[in-house]
Amino acid sequence: MHDKYEGVIGLEVHAQLLTNSKIFCNCSTKFGNEPNTNVCPICLGHPGVLPVLNKKVVEYTVLMGLATNCIINERSIFARKNYFYPDLPKGFQTSQFEEPACEHGYIEIPLSDMNSKKIGITRIHMEEDAGKSIHDSGLSTSIDLNRCGVPLIEIVSDPDMRSANEAYLYLTKIKQILQYLGICDGNMEEGSLRCDANISIRLQGEEKLGTKIEVKNMNSFRNVERAINFEINRQMEILEDGGRIIQETLLWDADKNKAYSMRSKEEAHDYRYFPEPDLFPVLVDSSWKNELASLLPELPSQRKQRFISSFKLPEYDAEILTQSRDLADYYEKVITMTDDYKSASNWVMGDVLKVINEQKIDIKEISISADNLAELINIINDNTISGKIAKEIFPEMLNENKRPLDIVKTKNLLQITDTKSIGKAIDQVLSNFPNEVEEFLNGKEKVFGFFIGKIMQETKGKANPKIVNELLREKITSYKK
Ligand SMILES: [Zn+2]
Repeated sequence: MHDKYEGVIGLEVHAQLLTNSKIFCNCSTKFGNEPNTNVCPICLGHPGVLPVLNKKVVEYTVLMGLATNCIINERSIFARKNYFYPDLPKGFQTSQFEEPACEHGYIEIPLSDMNSKKIGITRIHMEEDAGKSIHDSGLSTSIDLNRCGVPLIEIVSDPDMRSANEAYLYLTKIKQILQYLGICDGNMEEGSLRCDANISIRLQGEEKLGTKIEVKNMNSFRNVERAINFEINRQMEILEDGGRIIQETLLWDADKNKAYSMRSKEEAHDYRYFPEPDLFPVLVDSSWKNELASLLPELPSQRKQRFISSFKLPEYDAEILTQSRDLADYYEKVITMTDDYKSASNWVMGDVLKVINEQKIDIKEISISADNLAELINIINDNTISGKIAKEIFPEMLNENKRPLDIVKTKNLLQITDTKSIGKAIDQVLSNFPNEVEEFLNGKEKVFGFFIGKIMQETKGKANPKIVNELLREKITSYKK
């Protein structure tokens, strides 16, 4: 069944912009303040008030447009999107409809075969957020209007994604770009990044699009992937049973792992968009656009390429290390203090990321400083400690951000490199296991690894593995004579 059909997915992503004040008034955008304190007559939609556009919102929108290869329209206009909802006291949302700020862009997502795929961006427009209904405060519903008028951009993709995984990768890339630009924190769980999906299926090779279903309320990256898979499967089953897909909007329920119907097409909103009479058209001339283009930071794809060319890292490493700007910064800090770029990459991708995932923290919060990680790599490379000891002291560095060299000294973990004491340990092990020696001499090469293990145990992991290896081979073969 899965080979017979293909999914066609487009995403609408709402990103809250990190401005200090709201889009049309001076109210603070700060999250977590007392309900209904960040409000004024403008964002509450009192009659007779006039909105004034926040210039930063335009700048951030243009930056996102430039970073996603969009055409930046010289002129865009705001429109009123009319609907009644308790968390929208104005009775309409000020958004953009016919002339959005940015159009016709694309981003590239990395596919597993190391190729990339272009996903088109239909448009990016500016709009205001609505307030928040709070349903869990007892029997009644409360309303918090602090979020009314917080600036959003809506990024609408072309229906270019063919699987839940591609949608996941697209969303990851959008978040990455927003974070690199520093215009949105990208936190889906807290709602500063939201995603709706338009999903249809069609027979493989078919050009015509199927009936699309909109799925809303997916509040994590994992839920986006799950919900899309759920919906593609549901549509396939309907068609296989000879049924017909009816256009509707579904709400994803993460706890039940299912999507429920919210409204059908018959009940669909007719927003009656019309141009906002209280706001001037937004004009972005080429000099302003060029000025903003000069402010663009290094973007994830550029940084990845630089990691490959300057630090000779494999593409895989570069992709992971540049996932977030903060992680890439951490890595770059480590390698200002060590020349071993690949080891630094291994440590950051391996042990460091593991800690971050386990403790559910941000790279900025990790207790191992870049200096100390670099020192750890350097003292392995200059044979002060073995790699095995390094793995052992890593958790201790994590506890107190101690310098690795201090831990090594206090715990007497310096690597043993003198052949005399290593030789002694080898002799000890060989005499303890005469049968295994016999086996090795009869051609069972595997036993060699067994001896290495025993010798490392004997030296408490401190022996230099290279010397152990050489000396063991020398000694054990001499038994032959
Ligand atoms: Zn206000």
